[in-house]
Amino acid sequence: AEEASRQAEKLAALGQLTGGVAHDFSNLLQVIASGVSLLARPKLTETRQAKVIEGMQAAVESARTLTGRLLAFARQQPLAPETFDLAQRLPALSGLLRSTLGAGIRVETDTAPDLWPIRCDPTQLEVALLNLAVNARDAMPRGGTLAIRASNTRLPAEGERAAGDYVLITVRDTGEGMPPAVLARAFEPFFTTKEVGKGTGLGLPQVFGFARQSEGEVRIESEPGRGTTVLICLPRATEAAAAARDRQAAASRGAV
Ligand code: ADP
Repeated sequence: AEEASRQAEKLAALGQLTGGVAHDFSNLLQVIASGVSLLARPKLTETRQAKVIEGMQAAVESARTLTGRLLAFARQQPLAPETFDLAQRLPALSGLLRSTLGAGIRVETDTAPDLWPIRCDPTQLEVALLNLAVNARDAMPRGGTLAIRASNTRLPAEGERAAGDYVLITVRDTGEGMPPAVLARAFEPFFTTKEVGKGTGLGLPQVFGFARQSEGEVRIESEPGRGTTVLICLPRATEAAAAARDRQAAASRGAV
């Protein structure tokens, strides 16, 4: 849980970092673009030409440093899948969620008996639930309830999701809900309706990426005035599936 709040902080930092990078990048592109149009002029003296090229080279070099910084950041968060029992982890996590949410919000957790084990990166799952909790808090300025439930479910194939056994995690709040136009864009990176400095627009994309990489799925049901429910399904961990994945991982390591 401590690791999760550290990662959540890192995500917020990523938001600021990428925002800053995007801004710096467009300045550098500006330099290169005006360089290109200067060089396209027929009567440029050679000294002037050399100066313009020098400026463009410096801009390219800065841009390279910027992307390097982003890549270094991205590499800090590898997925480390484990097989584990969510029912055992949720109590510790709900403590963290309660302290994140503050006094005005009730946190309820409920896991079905005999919940199947899942296979995913537990820290990324915690980060995802923390992101959803922060969104729920922001949607309930006058307080309310956040309910996290987990149950076993069998799902048919649909879209990219394979048919099979899944653990369904629902995160429901009693907040303001989302109008259709917001719901439609909710998973878009950097999409936020929050004030500058409050929202990064990276919370739901993290949840989406986590679910996708874990071979699960995420969906949102939301209506203004009626609250929001985020549904995450994660594949049931089976020994056969774990063995197949290990073989695949070994093969891809061998291929590198
Ligand atoms: P951020 O929270 O930084 O804005 P997210 O990607 O987590 O970024 O969310 C994107 C947008 O989706 C939010 O700005 C908000 O408008 C909407 N949203 C997300 N979760 C909820 C929720 N539980 N209730 C109402 N609106 C939400």
